[in-house]
Amino acid sequence: MRPSFLPRLVNGPFDDPGLFIPFFLEKRAIIFDLGDIYSLSARDILKISHVFISHTHMDHFIGFDRLLRFFLGREQHLYLYGPGGFLKNVEGKLAGYSWNLVKHYSNLFALNVTEVHPGHMTTRNYICQNRFMPVEADIRQPFDGLLLKEPALSVSAEVLDHSIPCLGFTIEERFHINIMKEHVTGLGLEIGPWLNEFKQALYNNIDPDSEFEVKYKKRFILGDLAKRIALITPGQKVSYIVDVAYSKSNEAKIIELVKNADHLFIEAVFLERDRDIAEKKCHLTAWQAGRIAGKAGVKQVTPFHFSPRYKGLKPLLEKETLDSYHRHISRR
Ligand SMILES: [Zn+2]
Ligand SMILES: [Zn+2]
Repeated sequence: MRPSFLPRLVNGPFDDPGLFIPFFLEKRAIIFDLGDIYSLSARDILKISHVFISHTHMDHFIGFDRLLRFFLGREQHLYLYGPGGFLKNVEGKLAGYSWNLVKHYSNLFALNVTEVHPGHMTTRNYICQNRFMPVEADIRQPFDGLLLKEPALSVSAEVLDHSIPCLGFTIEERFHINIMKEHVTGLGLEIGPWLNEFKQALYNNIDPDSEFEVKYKKRFILGDLAKRIALITPGQKVSYIVDVAYSKSNEAKIIELVKNADHLFIEAVFLERDRDIAEKKCHLTAWQAGRIAGKAGVKQVTPFHFSPRYKGLKPLLEKETLDSYHRHISRR
């Protein structure tokens, strides 16, 4: 089975955090956090449609300028989400440059920025040609954990505590459509872009009794074709947790958000032997990260965002996380 999301850390575990998630066979990606993103190619950056920022400490947000630079002058709506104070932070970044020439750009580039609070979220729109001055009044909506909902996927968040609000994220596929290629060719059809349209039809709940045309080939009844070439399995779930203090309340919220994820990327900044420093700096130890992953029953855990004090000790941080994960998962 091919997963739809192909998550990969933007940098090594001692460098700026960030998770880049391109979608299989689509020219689209989302990203969790914008630290240093120089390792991402222009091609990858331009796939990004949605950006989710945990919090605006520099190592999580310094890449905003680079991202913005690639998109300037393009026809694109870019969606950004962040915690309380995010609108002010984005406006502060935008105010750092002069925009006297952008009115001549012919393409419409717009930023749609949402600040997430417990209970509500506020969205503000900025248009490049308008020198990124906010357009229209703010849009205020209730926030019940869901940031983005599309036919095929959703992104949820939880407001966590890092001495400032910090968001944890989960991206989840509604269900997974596996194409059985030999059945496709068995019908005399080619593997091609039409399969994406076919998947979209299923995600969009199109009437299964309606006709579906495979371009220049044949017409099928959608539900019939689905039975012959597709296998529907549970959707993929990927979660991202960084910069959180270890507390009962954070732990409970994280477990709820990342429960049974296929892959959890979680900070493990300190070793358990330095738990007092972790507490002061409002970060997790590797043991605590593994415990959360185990208790949440995730299938795979990747620790990262290691403190530079452990340079050369990567295997130790990974081992402590995994030992704790196995210890806690077996107790369930
Ligand atoms: Zn931080
Ligand atoms: Zn950090």
